[in-house]
Amino acid sequence: VIDNGQPDHSIITTCAYCGVGCSFRADMQGDKVLRMVPDKNGKANQGHSCVKGRFAFGYATHQDRITSPMIRDNIEQDWREVSWEEALAFAAKRLTDIQEEHGRNSIGAITSSRCTNEETYLVQKLVRAVFQNNNVDTCARVCHSPTGYGLKATLNESAGTQTFESVMKADVVLIIGANPTDAHPVFGSLLKRRLRQGAKLVVADPRSIDLIDSPHTKAQHHLKLRPGTNVALINALAHVIVDEGLEDADFIQSRCDDASFQQWYKHIQDQRHSPESTTEITGVDATELRAAARLYANAGNGAIYYGLGVTEHSQGSSSVMAIANLAMVSGNIGREGVGVNPLRGQNNVQGSCDMGSFPHELPGYRHVSDESTRNLFEQEWQVSLDCEPGLRIPNMFEAAIHGDFKGLYCQGEDIAQSDPNTQHVQKALSSMKCIIVQDIFLNETAKYAHVFLPGSSFMEKNGTFTNAERRISRVRKLMPALAGKEDWQVTIELAKVLGYEMNYEHPSEIMDEIARLTPTFSGVSYERLDQLGSIQWPCNEKSPLGTPIMHTEDFVGEKGKFAITEYVATPEKANKHFPLLLTTGRILSQYNVGAQTRRTANQVWHDEDVLEIHPNDAEDRGINDGDWVGIASRAGTTALRALISQRVQPGVVYTTFHHPLSGANVVTTDNSDWATNCPEYKVTAVQATKVDEP
Ligand code: SF4
Repeated sequence: VIDNGQPDHSIITTCAYCGVGCSFRADMQGDKVLRMVPDKNGKANQGHSCVKGRFAFGYATHQDRITSPMIRDNIEQDWREVSWEEALAFAAKRLTDIQEEHGRNSIGAITSSRCTNEETYLVQKLVRAVFQNNNVDTCARVCHSPTGYGLKATLNESAGTQTFESVMKADVVLIIGANPTDAHPVFGSLLKRRLRQGAKLVVADPRSIDLIDSPHTKAQHHLKLRPGTNVALINALAHVIVDEGLEDADFIQSRCDDASFQQWYKHIQDQRHSPESTTEITGVDATELRAAARLYANAGNGAIYYGLGVTEHSQGSSSVMAIANLAMVSGNIGREGVGVNPLRGQNNVQGSCDMGSFPHELPGYRHVSDESTRNLFEQEWQVSLDCEPGLRIPNMFEAAIHGDFKGLYCQGEDIAQSDPNTQHVQKALSSMKCIIVQDIFLNETAKYAHVFLPGSSFMEKNGTFTNAERRISRVRKLMPALAGKEDWQVTIELAKVLGYEMNYEHPSEIMDEIARLTPTFSGVSYERLDQLGSIQWPCNEKSPLGTPIMHTEDFVGEKGKFAITEYVATPEKANKHFPLLLTTGRILSQYNVGAQTRRTANQVWHDEDVLEIHPNDAEDRGINDGDWVGIASRAGTTALRALISQRVQPGVVYTTFHHPLSGANVVTTDNSDWATNCPEYKVTAVQATKVDEP
């Protein structure tokens, strides 16, 4: 811990790691952070924190930080340090030349869930107002885009329904594809507190997470399903509710769209959705599944929490809609202790989606084809806007490989490391003429870049993050930007050299513009955030103090819509060549690909990701604990050390994706969610064989 003196001042800010969005008091000595103290008044964390937010902040001043802009004519050359003016002029010329030669749709941008709402808003504005297309996407594409799609289609709003605190009123908690004690630790602790008070727990996960059997928590049911079968399992839970007459008829009649319910009701009653019929698909015992469904449906308050184990599948959006169906049919929406709660991964993944960084949606989830919404933005921005949706990230890669997409502005996202099928991504990146990477470190994507613009960490800027409970919190500047500019200023200057003026003196003015243009944000301002501490959107005339629980009276002016969610098997099938299914997750002390946590001196950096393998599968292959194991999939190969474990079931192997050298994404495939193209990280058919140390 860096704690070597008395602070001369303190500043309240927000953690930049996970979607819990803990509030911290930074104790400062001049521009130096002495310590991060969890803020007792922080509504998301109430004085609690995990090791990452509390101790893993030293990366912000790590020697690897790049503080000078750099350019190069081609990626074979070494980087050349240049002034900001030269770097931005170089970038602007390349982008302009590309559009002249290849058309206006040949360039685009990727926004970051690590950056602030204001920065994300400006990048999508740059794309729409200056690039004159809708080729903007966000790293949420690879995590929670199915949440956006699935909740909008059913509950009419692309966000979770509750506060974290709401779990303290839950009687039964159903966790699907999430591991809160590792991935969302402060919420995980709150949940444990509720479980210790007697709330019941059902977990649907291919792997045994800690909550299932810890000293203080026991799951009543662990539905240990096969990876890729969420929809069959959730449909089966709904089937039991309908089959056994456990539905909440009053809620359905008063709050839900009758036509969609009738259609869904007929569909879900079919015997093919019964637990008995789906056992062969899911591997889950029918009696246990029936008992779990009864427990959830008969709970006074049943709350569902889900994570990337739901979304990162070829049926990610279907799974999210099936979860919404389950909550509606049991009447578990619209009050404390219930709801549909996506546990968002990164600190601002909710915000990056809210801010319009999808190629089909302007801020506030309004489709680009909607003329009245476009007119609003056109008047504010003084440009005309394209009404056609742009390219998603995987479409950008495809177009690049076909020679139609040549320029990319990538802010705070390491697509070369974190997107699936690394070889495919590398091929796409290699075929572009101008890649501009804006980041705090030289990352894998920068190997393919022509311009590097040094980024600013969350300590070096003002802005806001929005957490998984729609809570907008202030990020406050603790120290000057190491590279002399904050990320939002860089985007403004890039726009300027491209001939478009964005006039903001402070990120608060960007938020004012967002509030003017976005009905769910119309009551949000820095002044109000400073007064209230944080605000959960929607915040407008109807809810001036924000909205802790959504859908209390209606579903954003509409009825809840049931969606037909037919189970379709993933194309990623195990066979004799690839007989095991690989799935992935996180550990508490590390974060994603480790760019920050492994550059933190006071954080123990684990040396490697390991492969959890069931004793039977290990024995079949002559693998012992600690042996090196070669992993081959249809997409690529890598090697990990074995950890023989009963946590995984036979036929399933598991690893984390924190270490840059293990390259989990070398083996993940191109399969993706049918609705959003979210990659199917959670199911990869592999073979595992004992190998010599690589
Ligand atoms: Fe940061 Fe998440 Fe840990 Fe809170 S739980 S301190 S937001 S990483």
